[in-house]
Amino acid sequence: MDRKLLAAERIHKRDKLDQPADGENLCKEQKEEENLVKILAATVGHYFPEFNAWLKQISDPREQEAIDFTRETQIWTGIILFLTKRGARKKISDEMRTKEFCENLKALSGQENLERVAHGDAVNYAYMRFKEEEFELLLVKMMRRLLRVRALEKYRLLGRYYTIAIDATGVYSFDYKHCEQCLMREDKKGNKKWYHFKLQASLVTWDGLCLPMASEWIENEAKFNKQDCEIRAFYRLIEKLRKLYRQLPMCILLDGLYAGEPQFKALEEKRMEWVVVFKEGAMPEVFDWTMKWKAEYGLENVLVKKERKEIGVRNKRTHQERLMRNKPWHQTRIVERERIYTWMQGIKHWNNQRRYNLLTCKEKEDGRINCDYIWLVSNGLLLCRETVEELSEKGGRCRWKQENEGFNTQKNGGYGLEHCYCRDPSAMKIWNRVLEIAYFISQLITRGSLVAKEIYGSVINIAHRMFEHFRYFNFKKTSLRRRIQIRLGWNTS
Ligand SMILES: [Zn+2]
Repeated sequence: MDRKLLAAERIHKRDKLDQPADGENLCKEQKEEENLVKILAATVGHYFPEFNAWLKQISDPREQEAIDFTRETQIWTGIILFLTKRGARKKISDEMRTKEFCENLKALSGQENLERVAHGDAVNYAYMRFKEEEFELLLVKMMRRLLRVRALEKYRLLGRYYTIAIDATGVYSFDYKHCEQCLMREDKKGNKKWYHFKLQASLVTWDGLCLPMASEWIENEAKFNKQDCEIRAFYRLIEKLRKLYRQLPMCILLDGLYAGEPQFKALEEKRMEWVVVFKEGAMPEVFDWTMKWKAEYGLENVLVKKERKEIGVRNKRTHQERLMRNKPWHQTRIVERERIYTWMQGIKHWNNQRRYNLLTCKEKEDGRINCDYIWLVSNGLLLCRETVEELSEKGGRCRWKQENEGFNTQKNGGYGLEHCYCRDPSAMKIWNRVLEIAYFISQLITRGSLVAKEIYGSVINIAHRMFEHFRYFNFKKTSLRRRIQIRLGWNTS
């Protein structure tokens, strides 16, 4: 065949491929953007097919005949506000009230007669009337569903336990007494500040998932002698956890604050295993005793894991090299990582009946110490040469995921955890729960296989592009025909 003819055929074929099937003249990038709201709907539909039915079950005391926006619509508006990381309630009124946005919202919430997106104050008006516990229950339904479809099977510690980190974080702070429940703190200069803290339990995994399961506000009751504290909230939270997930095999990951006999007992009563950071100060006498015992009788309990990996060392470019567009001179070097595990099981303490199990992990990279942990491990967890690595890497060390992936992302990753979306004490907590729901869904989207992360560059870009799509493109639910498969566990870090 003529060479010219071949070239023409190639161009013809290429044009045919480039032509959009639905006839709309979109470039490739726009088509990818269009997918994001579809992906949101597909992900929620895949994991939680009854999501809107759950929203409908939330009690709504508003006059149902007179309202323009159903509870599903108002809750979805809040979820989208957080998913697209707008950061303030005002953004609903300022940025979310386009025709396309309304159409997309209508498709998600299922309110057929929706004519416009509500004003931010109208959303808040509804939130002020909802009940917080019903929103917590919504999160529980989401988590139960994930557990039921076995989406989290591969994260079970020792093939059995789900790892749950419990930790407190400051959520709101005020310069004045905001409500009767506020905690008050006074610094050395006598300056007073009022706070709302939250004790959060999240299912954490070694590859960075952090899914909220339940939480407890640390706040004062109407009449109190002593302010509420983390430990008291801890007892309430583990009781709530056990009530909400009756049969779930749990391993609770805790920091040094919770190392104490009353806490261990409470955990055992609730049929929970635990790995708790063990520091000298928490139980000084037990610390000295167990460490001495381990040093004397546990000399053989040492496991060393060595790893060598090649890393790239990028040199700095000079101005001249940049001008000439010369690539920097790349080098690679070998990094040696060494993890040393030591352990001792069943150390009997002279003072009481408890037997303590000690596990330590020291990580060195090129001779430099990266971390040095000591944990106490509950009696129900098998501690031996075969399990120490898993207990440390997929257990104890995962506690940090709640701090980094959890609180840090919610505070600094665009969710505005510390931003008070409403000062009303009741609505304030509802906004916080909606944030948790959005954060939950967001992780399923960004870690699912439907999002081609390389197109968006980063997780925050996905949120921003999703917002653009909400604002400028129409999402049609009919286009969700093909069956989807989502696999969790794709590392986004
Ligand atoms: Zn308050």
